Amino acid sequence: MNMQIDLNGQKIQFAVKKNRHARQVRILIHQNGRLTVSAPRFATQKMLKNVIADKAEWIINTLAKCRPDNPQKHAEVKKDFKKNKNLALKLVKEKIATFGAIYNLHPKKIFIRNQSTRWGSCSSRGNLSFNFRLIYLPENLLDYLIAHELCHLGEMNHSHRFWALVAQTIPDFKKRKTALREMGRRLL
Ligand SMILES: [Zn+2]
Repeated sequence: MNMQIDLNGQKIQFAVKKNRHARQVRILIHQNGRLTVSAPRFATQKMLKNVIADKAEWIINTLAKCRPDNPQKHAEVKKDFKKNKNLALKLVKEKIATFGAIYNLHPKKIFIRNQSTRWGSCSSRGNLSFNFRLIYLPENLLDYLIAHELCHLGEMNHSHRFWALVAQTIPDFKKRKTALREMGRRLL
């Protein structure tokens, strides 16, 4: 059953799940902003509305932090990925050739992915994966990203030795690391 309630002028939808094990009304807010209310079978609409109204402030504050699913954005990103995957691979290969020669480290395979949470990764098998969105990075950050993942082929950790290796080609790696994270907030 679905229910709609007006909270401080905002119309909010709830999916209501009656549950014979529930002893009280519980409100769950999912990351995408969907709301579920689980309630005992005897709970009436009025009871539910009262519980929800009591928690109005918490609900509105929590919803403000949620990220709604956006099917249109998903479709756009998919298209973008398909279009730019090969360009991303080309850019990565060029950079790997340069940095690989300096470090004498060479990945077994390179994958370009449409990941929503990370720029790159290194597998224990010696494969490197990169996010296709790297095509939007300025070159100094692309260099840092490539050097970082490549150095994991030598040091599979974030130890002092790892960062010393990165610093051989990217002396200001700390600044670039922060900048890349910032870009991640906007792009990923
Ligand atoms: Zn790393």
